Amino acid sequence: MDCGSSGQAKNGVSAAVISVGDELMLGQTQDTNAKWLAGQFTLRGVLVREFRTVHDDLEAIESVLRELSARHDFLVMTGGLGPTDDDLTREALRRAMDVVEPLEVDAPALAALDMWFKDRGRPMTANNSLQALRPKGARCLENSLGTAPGLYAHIGRAHIWCLPGPPREMECMFETQVAPHLPHCVMATAAVHSFGQGESFLAQVLGQRMSRQSNPLIGTTASGSIVSARIRAVDAAANPQSMESVMQEIERLWAPYAFGRDQETLAGALGKLLVSRGERVSLAESCTGGLAGSFITAISGSSEWFSGAAVTYANGAKTDLLQVPNELLAAHGAVSAPVALAMARGCAALLKTQWSASITGIAGPGGGSETKPVGQVFIGICGPRFETVKKFHYPGDRASIRDRAAKSALALLRFALLGQEAFAAPMIWESK
Ligand code: ATP
Repeated sequence: MDCGSSGQAKNGVSAAVISVGDELMLGQTQDTNAKWLAGQFTLRGVLVREFRTVHDDLEAIESVLRELSARHDFLVMTGGLGPTDDDLTREALRRAMDVVEPLEVDAPALAALDMWFKDRGRPMTANNSLQALRPKGARCLENSLGTAPGLYAHIGRAHIWCLPGPPREMECMFETQVAPHLPHCVMATAAVHSFGQGESFLAQVLGQRMSRQSNPLIGTTASGSIVSARIRAVDAAANPQSMESVMQEIERLWAPYAFGRDQETLAGALGKLLVSRGERVSLAESCTGGLAGSFITAISGSSEWFSGAAVTYANGAKTDLLQVPNELLAAHGAVSAPVALAMARGCAALLKTQWSASITGIAGPGGGSETKPVGQVFIGICGPRFETVKKFHYPGDRASIRDRAAKSALALLRFALLGQEAFAAPMIWESK
């Protein structure tokens, strides 16, 4: 089977994943199988259009098999192949296939089970031999890591694979016995990440490029205030340039907010810029309490460009460590532009770095006032021949205000390194 060029596989080839088990419905086991299987289908250019989770109930499993086999080409169902009474997949498959004969013994599967127990010096119980049963017209699939054989069958146009629930066994069987029967095309995926503007604004900038008919197909997601363009291309191998040119175009349209691709982080992007210039940065953190520094130190090797952070929460720490004048604190308060600037200057001097950013604000929920409401944060940036402060008003609770403030400081440092034009770009939470 080959692939089409329209963002989904030819003829609308689609897959569905069914997870069976009471423990999934009761919230006792996380359904990692479905996530893993979706990733595997995606890699091969097949889109998973539906996920279903069903409990250990014969009618429920039969009904979901009937329903999904009517509209998908590939179904993978995991779980319910064990030897106990609540393992109902084999019988549900027989019913969904409209096979009237009872389940029959698969001789090679029974022999393999027998061998599995002999190899381990354990007796095979009658229960275990039930695992070698299959509906007439279905095929047993070898399970080299466990006792439950899988099953392959088809209903109408749908190819159906029933695999055991334990992830290790399921993954091995998928790779060896399912994947070889999937289309031979590759779906390439990539992401371009940005910070500093909202998802709706950034999506609007992309305009028609986000049309659902395009290949590569572009969509946006937002997580932790990072807005990402997710790009996927069917049969990218046939046209590797198209993926690259789409990413470059998004980066151009989202400049200066776009900071990196795929696994890149804001801190990582900042680090690369600093390393390329042989410069170093330090941080003076008040309301973020070291959060911005922790984003940086999450990157191995960041000591090459990051000297440290002074967490100066109380006024005394700001004066003692960063030499912020008492008069400045008394005249403007700790949450103010002059104090933010003095913190950044003092930190650059203390840690002897070319660049420094300071963060001082009111993260809430208490401590706000009419003139200095919760969410008000000043970020000072100090660099070679460059000193400025930006004021922000972040929405959200304490955690999200701190998170956005820490990320904004890293983004502003990056903008400052890119130049005046980038630094002048408005950010979504900036206030006058
Ligand atoms: P076995 O005979 O090995 O038990 P089975 O097909 O009967 O195979 P289940 O009994 O349904 O599998 O599940 C066995 C175990 O596999 C579960 O207890 C759980 O730990 C794990 N498991 C099942 N389904 C999933 C899933 N969707 N995601 C992650 N783990 C799962």
